[in-house]
Amino acid sequence: MKMENNEYDLFMLNYNEQHKLCPNCGSVKHTTSLLNEVLDMDNKHEYEDLNKCECVDCGHVHTRHDRISKKSFANLKIKIKKMFNFK
Ligand SMILES: [Zn+2]
Repeated sequence: MKMENNEYDLFMLNYNEQHKLCPNCGSVKHTTSLLNEVLDMDNKHEYEDLNKCECVDCGHVHTRHDRISKKSFANLKIKIKKMFNFK
């Protein structure tokens, strides 16, 4: 039982890290609804937190699962820069 709790905490820690930033502007500041999503320990990869988030900085509305990690956001910025040929 203790093992399971630990695994749950680790998964949540990682999930939060992977879904930390607004997908539109990269801000961490947001408001969110507080539904509890059930985590199925046997199907962790299917876990999606569908709480509704609203970015405080740009007003973008998305689900928690749509939020992105710092790394993804950095990659996204590079991709956009390349797409528009920014210097
Ligand atoms: Zn935003």
